[in-house]
Amino acid sequence: MNLIEKLRVNPGTKVDLRDHDPDATPGFKGKPDVDAILLKTCSRMAELQYLMYAENKRALLIVLQAPDTGGKDGTIRHVMTGLNPAGVQVKSFKAPTEDELDHDYLWRIHKAVPNYGEFGIFNRSHYEDLIVVRVHDLVPRPVWKNRYEEINAFERHLTENNVTILKFYLHISKAEQKRRLLERIEDKRKWWKLSEADFSERKYWSAYQAAYEDALTRCSTKEAPWHIIPANKKWFRNLAVAEIVLETLESLDMKFPKPKIDPTRIQLR
Ligand code: AMP
Ligand code: MG
Repeated sequence: MNLIEKLRVNPGTKVDLRDHDPDATPGFKGKPDVDAILLKTCSRMAELQYLMYAENKRALLIVLQAPDTGGKDGTIRHVMTGLNPAGVQVKSFKAPTEDELDHDYLWRIHKAVPNYGEFGIFNRSHYEDLIVVRVHDLVPRPVWKNRYEEINAFERHLTENNVTILKFYLHISKAEQKRRLLERIEDKRKWWKLSEADFSERKYWSAYQAAYEDALTRCSTKEAPWHIIPANKKWFRNLAVAEIVLETLESLDMKFPKPKIDPTRIQLR
């Protein structure tokens, strides 16, 4: 079984995150030559990015969700190197602004969906409206309860309109989060990253895990599947995400458009 099938949440499966080992490295015995594999995977990804740009009829949307320190930024940095930056848009979703709160919660999301021909990466996403919102009671329960269905319908709408959606949950353990936070405290160059929230949110670890389990269970669809990426080991996380993105791109069966003119008949004097 390949990685994509192993890590995908099959629609209809009830997710219990305790069944997923965040230290796992399926497919690898020990640490391989990660740089060499990533280089190869990412250069093929860049070829397919070029093809998608040329075709200009579909887009790729990558959604990254994780607990704090889960590695969303690191994944973007490692997996997207080698791509043409002109065709990649990274969008980070923070707590909604006043203007955003003046609209439905999908308004800011829909605006950030990548153009045809391009890749888009969401660092956090509409899933925050089911996760942080639920953990902190930011909207009443009956309101967020409806959002699983709303999000499935929204994502179906996108996929039917040629947006390929890949969703990744970077799965780390609470102990690994502690290690990473301690690392930040020890390294002066990482102090800028520290926020009160990283430490206070840790108290809600199990509420977050439960909220994620429901989102992963109810919103992994055939059209827009979730993948649970064991992410304690950063090298595995990077390889797994890169591999799944590449495999998905390969499966799209993209073709260069027919040339507008016959280049073999051109004579330059
Ligand atoms: P950072 O990880 O530093 O980018 O923090 C972004 C913050 O924005 C996190 O604390 C998120 O929980 C918060 N956030 C993102 N989307 C939402 C949302 N829809 N509602 C409330 N908070 C959000
Ligand atoms: Mg961040």
